[in-house]
Formats: sequence, C-alpha cells, structure tokens
Amino acid sequence: MFLDLLGALLSPDRCAACDELVPLGHAFCSCCAASIDPAAFPSVLPVPTAEVGAFGGALAQAIYRFKYGQRPDLARPLGNLMARAAESLGPVDLVVPVPLAPTRLRERGYNQAALLAAQIADHLGVKHDPFRLRRVVETSQLAHQGEEERRRSIQGAFACTREVRGRSVMLVDDVLTTGATLGACMEALEGTRAVVVCVAARVERWSSPPGSLLT
Ligand SMILES: [Zn+2]
Repeated sequence: MFLDLLGALLSPDRCAACDELVPLGHAFCSCCAASIDPAAFPSVLPVPTAEVGAFGGALAQAIYRFKYGQRPDLARPLGNLMARAAESLGPVDLVVPVPLAPTRLRERGYNQAALLAAQIADHLGVKHDPFRLRRVVETSQLAHQGEEERRRSIQGAFACTREVRGRSVMLVDDVLTTGATLGACMEALEGTRAVVVCVAARVERWSSPPGSLLT
C-alpha cells in the first residue's frame, strides 16, 4: 500500500484512453468510463467468457493505444479491470495468453495478450504461462479475410507446449471478434478440465472495428 501511494505521488494514474489524471487505481476518467457499455449479446464462444465491455468508446481507444501506440504500461489498468470481470468465472489453475505471430512480436516488441495475462494472474494470485501455447502456422493476414476464411486458416494454427490435462485454464486475449482464434486455442488445449475466456473487449455483431484491430 505504501509503495502504491509512493508510486501515485511520483507517477499519478492517468486515464488509459485520454491521459487525464484519475484517482489512484482508476483505469478511466469519469467521462471516458461513461462511454463504456457492457456487452449486450451472448459470447460467440461455447465457454464462459468475461470482458470489461463491448468494443467501442474509450475502451477501444485504450486497447488501440495499448497495441499500436507503444503503451505496454496500459496492461496494468486494463488487466486489473479484466481480472475483476474474470472473478465471475470462478477459480482457475493457470492463465494462458493467445500467442502472437512471431512477425508481429518482432514488430511490436511485446505480446499484448501475454502482458494482460500476467496482470490478471498477479491480481488473482494464480500462475500464468506465456509459452503454454505457440503458433505453428503464421496467420498474420487474418484481418483482411472474411469470417469463414479466417476460421479455416486458423484451424490447427496453435499447439500446446506442455500437458494441461486435468487443470482449469483461463485463456486471455485483448479482443474477441469471431472467436476463430480463441476457438483454435481451445482445440489446442484439449484435455484441459475446463477452459474459460477473458478478454478486454468483445466486438458485437452490429459494430465493425477497424480491420487492423483484429490481429
Ligand atoms: Zn479519459
């Protein structure tokens, strides 16, 4: 707590979307927070799914800055919000991020899902393993493909690097759109006792995000 207060004095918390100063521990200023809506429709995935909100407004802005604005520090406020949303999913043994394609990892310098998974695991007091899944097929052009094409090309794109049998796993990604990527990760985790999913935002059918956000 003392370190938190000291940190707040030295580097006060700022809104993840607009950089306005915010009270300690707040991810968004009140104006940006008001633009975040809960997801209105059921998840496209066949497993329990938690999210901070529907993709849009300040939440989309924060995710965009986090992924494309070289702001890995935004994993902390976003991850903490996701961890709070994930509490409704019940306890898990392990938190596993969706792996990033090697070319994207080289471009960006960090896997945004792995940073979120680390923050969530820390918040929930459970283990995380950024290397439990790996990409075995390069799928960097997915953003430009249609839904069915995406689903086909991502099948079998992931492999599990170590046995997960009998454990319950929380899969983490930044944005859930068609569910093709997370569905392929779930296949790779076959044998797991239970899989739940936590994302920062869920794109709902009626909203269309910029294509670049889908990768
Ligand atoms: Zn703001």
